[in-house]
Amino acid sequence: MTKKIYVTEPALPPLDQFMPYLEKIWDSKWLTNGGPFHQQLEHELAEYLGVKHLALFTNATIALVTALQALRISGEVITTPYSFVATAHSLLWNGIKPVFVDIDPETFNLDPKQIEAAITPQTTAIFPVHVYGTPCNVDEIQRIADTYGLKVIYDAAHAFGVRCNGGSVLNYGDLSVLSFHATKVFNTFEGGAIICPDAKTKQRIDHLKNFGIVDEVTVVAPGINGKMNEVQAAFGLLQLQHIDDIMVRRALVAARYRDNLAEVKGIGLPVVPDVDQVNNSYFPIMVELDYQMGRDALYSYLQTKDVMSRRYFYPLITDFPMYRGLPSARLDNLPVARRVADRVLCLPIFPDLPLADVDRICDIIRTAPAA
Ligand SMILES: *Cc1c(COP(=O)(O)O)cnc(C)c1O
Repeated sequence: MTKKIYVTEPALPPLDQFMPYLEKIWDSKWLTNGGPFHQQLEHELAEYLGVKHLALFTNATIALVTALQALRISGEVITTPYSFVATAHSLLWNGIKPVFVDIDPETFNLDPKQIEAAITPQTTAIFPVHVYGTPCNVDEIQRIADTYGLKVIYDAAHAFGVRCNGGSVLNYGDLSVLSFHATKVFNTFEGGAIICPDAKTKQRIDHLKNFGIVDEVTVVAPGINGKMNEVQAAFGLLQLQHIDDIMVRRALVAARYRDNLAEVKGIGLPVVPDVDQVNNSYFPIMVELDYQMGRDALYSYLQTKDVMSRRYFYPLITDFPMYRGLPSARLDNLPVARRVADRVLCLPIFPDLPLADVDRICDIIRTAPAA
């Protein structure tokens, strides 16, 4: 019996490095509400990522809900069925109707060629996802948004540290949202952030994440409680000191998978995006029809060998009951997303994954019996 290998495992710095942060919090008794670590993490993250303004949140889902509120998005919003369900849920939490558009077969991101046909007089925004950290076609999406007067909000939950065209991918669109959940490249146990280009928008977002409170006697909006606390922020600061090492080790794992799986019949490897910096946040393979067993069979077979792969993203968001009745959720509207969701399998990838384990996982895939 080998130890189970999960699809991801958080990078945890040595515990003794965290104790001085906790002592400071205990000394100051400042636990939340924009404390010193919160302020410091906002600044250090903005600098590391190469973005202008960043507002920390308790998690990315509350940040997505708040981003839509901050720009007063309403009516219909164009989005992707190929994502984590929180993307679309954040629309429903705002009373917005999701309009699903199919994805590009190479990048698995919203296909810009199909966006215009989905625009109606009610459309107010485009809400794409940088799936697996691969940038969307940001220029084309912006061109469409400009033509039709739409806002663009990116669910950038997977895109920590990704750089393209000489800068952060997070600088595209009106707002971008990061997730710092335990399973993501950079984590604060739970957490997230909204990236925005100007100080005024950040101020509005900061009000919205704190009940809409401006001062003791002024409440300007029905805001929510989306604040990140000091323990989370401190952990983020510590993790940021290790981020370069984390990125390097993820890249080594991804390269090893590519080497090992390049020649395996029926296994499709993810496209390497044409960018300045990837983050290797996921390692999705396509289990094609000429592989020796089906995708679900391989998923189960790996489990019998204690390898816990995940079918991200299957089912599609449009398969869930609160979405499947929508006209845009129809199967014939989303053939590419359907095909990808039925074939994708995300293999374990995290900084502490030994390369010997990567080799073993690839051997299992290579030698799996015909079924
Ligand atoms: C993880 C994730 C979220 C939600 O993030 P939380 O911080 O867990 O709320 C949203 N969208 C995508 C694409 C994600 O992967």
